[in-house]
Amino acid sequence: KEKLLEIRNLKTSFYTHVGEVKAVGGVSIDLNKGEAIGIVGESGSGKSITMMSLMGLLSENGKIIDGEIIFEGRDLAKLSEEEMQKIRGNEIGMIFQDPMTSLNPVLTIGDQLMEPLIKHKKMSKKEAWDRAVQMLSLVGIPSPESRMKQYPHEFSGGMRQRVMIAMALACEPKLLIADEPTTALDVTIQAQILELMKELKDKINTSIILITHDLGVVADVCDRINVMYGGLVAETGSTRDIFYRPKHPYTWGLLKSIPNPKKDEKERLKPIEGQPPDLLKPPVGCPFADRCEYAMKICMQQRPPLFEVGEGHKAACWLNHPDAPKVEPPVGRGE
Ligand code: SF4
Ligand code: MG
Repeated sequence: KEKLLEIRNLKTSFYTHVGEVKAVGGVSIDLNKGEAIGIVGESGSGKSITMMSLMGLLSENGKIIDGEIIFEGRDLAKLSEEEMQKIRGNEIGMIFQDPMTSLNPVLTIGDQLMEPLIKHKKMSKKEAWDRAVQMLSLVGIPSPESRMKQYPHEFSGGMRQRVMIAMALACEPKLLIADEPTTALDVTIQAQILELMKELKDKINTSIILITHDLGVVADVCDRINVMYGGLVAETGSTRDIFYRPKHPYTWGLLKSIPNPKKDEKERLKPIEGQPPDLLKPPVGCPFADRCEYAMKICMQQRPPLFEVGEGHKAACWLNHPDAPKVEPPVGRGE
């Protein structure tokens, strides 16, 4: 398989008045061409910051302090803002949680769709118009010609997210990054948008990184999943590995918190108790130790390395050390 993206040991910090917040503490993530991967974790896990680092969209006080982000042979961590502007929206498309903040309320949808095509692809107005209409119809917006002249407020939440996807894909990016793209939508619309992303992945052959706090969301769309916790990768593997053979207690907790429509209300949601670590003072040992019911002495003293637990499957948990006590995972469905 050909690699599209290789994030190597990325470290990103924020400098605040109280000190350095080590938001991303050394993360490595790969993405192959045509593949969809999920990055899953609670807020504060570093998943969005990892992607903002990649896009060159860190806030003023944020800085990449180590590592590489190799995208098609270039290290994005070393590019200037001017060079990144040529990549964003062109080679890399983005979708965020709330389309209203990304869409310009005073421009028609058509103008907003045509703008990147004229700017990045040097299309004429006519070419850009045709392409924009084609994109709207591709993402399932009825009567796209007349919709072109409407403003964002004239679209429903679900339709606006479809417009955002059309916009992100208009320039045929090699990579689409979607950060909580369905979180603001109701469940039915959410399922439709995810189905659409899955379809488009095959149609346009774009690689996808789907960022979410909900493991349930990535199951259908993603080939592989990276679970992040406390600014680090806790577990990485194929979607099957993560759902059927999870090897990290944090992943077990995430799996337990997926709503199960077959169970009654009380059993549906079991959020993991406790708080994520304070990244002003990252713990020396396992970042999950405070919340982990399996924590051992070594977990407090030494950070667990990413143990190889299967082909392409790794977990940063001491339970995977050959001398560790054997623990029966409370989840994992077997096959
Ligand atoms: Fe729990 Fe220890 Fe594994 Fe961390 S390394 S997840 S504290 S058992
Ligand atoms: Mg986020």
